[in-house]
Amino acid sequence: MKLAQFTRQLKPSETLAISTKAKTLRAQGRNIIDFGLGEPDFATPGHIMRAAEHAMAEGFTKYTPPAGLPALRRAIADKLKRDNGLDYAPENIIVSCGAKQALYNVIMVLVEQGDEVIVPGPYWVTYPTQVLLAGGTPVSVPTTAADDFKVTGEVLRRYLTPRTRGIILNSPCNPTGAVYTPEELEDLARVLLDTDLFIITDEIYEHIIFDGIEQRSIATLHPALKERSIVINGFSKAYAMTGWRLGYCAGPREVMEMCDRLQSQTTSNATAFVQVAGIEALTGPQDSVRAMAQAFEQRRNFVVARLNAIDGMTCNMPHGAFYTFPQIDGLFGRRAKGQPLLTSADVVSYLLEVAGVALVPGEAFGDDRSMRLSYASSMAELEEGLARVDRAVQQLE
Ligand code: PLP
Repeated sequence: MKLAQFTRQLKPSETLAISTKAKTLRAQGRNIIDFGLGEPDFATPGHIMRAAEHAMAEGFTKYTPPAGLPALRRAIADKLKRDNGLDYAPENIIVSCGAKQALYNVIMVLVEQGDEVIVPGPYWVTYPTQVLLAGGTPVSVPTTAADDFKVTGEVLRRYLTPRTRGIILNSPCNPTGAVYTPEELEDLARVLLDTDLFIITDEIYEHIIFDGIEQRSIATLHPALKERSIVINGFSKAYAMTGWRLGYCAGPREVMEMCDRLQSQTTSNATAFVQVAGIEALTGPQDSVRAMAQAFEQRRNFVVARLNAIDGMTCNMPHGAFYTFPQIDGLFGRRAKGQPLLTSADVVSYLLEVAGVALVPGEAFGDDRSMRLSYASSMAELEEGLARVDRAVQQLE
């Protein structure tokens, strides 16, 4: 059958490829520890689950407006004011089935054939793929561990061309855990103020942030930037609600109206009772959000120290999200059964087969010298998994 042209841009997810391999090994009876996942290992807080149950019993089982329940859009507007200092009317907010759909709507509305979109790398795999699906060209601006995986205004300026339409920022960042300070955002803002680029700012990890660092949205820095910014956020990470599929975007009215229209012709609304649970998440007690962030910080401290103790690996200190992105190119050239390891995929395959630990090769995020380790796992698993990685590395010739 002839497939549509755009399907050529649909690459299979590298994360899924690893987890399929991990599942196959598990089915063969191997004990596999999975550090590949991008979701909190905590359960959704009980008060949010109960809110969904009540909502179902109360009849929130029908369609809602595509843009979301008015009460949820109001709760999101209040949250953006309270947590981020951003003023948005409920009409400037669209609720979607996850932040991923919110991002897709925005990219489809803003990007067209021939447009370039700047994506600082290492990046979340979905950004370049969605830009490609919209007919645009993702332009990766590489950063390294030496830059703490952050792009500066000076570097950004070098990548701007007459075709550049926008930039996608993600702080705290998946996969590196990098967090831009207000000064670093101001440095980017100075360059962006000289342009008319749109700015997509993905802030989904905003509450998973450590070392007392302040989360700041670039949209707060200048009114002229806010007019061109679209904030992406959701419930998956802060409230451990990955499977509920609830996210949102906030931005200029004309962009939101088109997102609303697009969504009304694709998925319609996010699940009605999930939206009611979302109101409870934003307006109910926030102590579980803080408790999860504290647990992640403790794990981060352990994981970074343990990775740095492994010969051939070095790891930056991430300040947010729940990932580390150690450099593993110190292992390139070493041999397993006579075969040299030459890429991040080689190292990750070796560690899966020999240590029984699943990780994601850095090449999936645009950086082949590293791999991503998610520490959304218990301390016991982290200790055992990293001890196995260490032993497997010592066995290399
Ligand atoms: N943005 C980033 C940076 C992510 O890492 C993820 C999920 O992994 C998302 C957005 C999507 O979240 P959601 O589950 O709300 O679609």
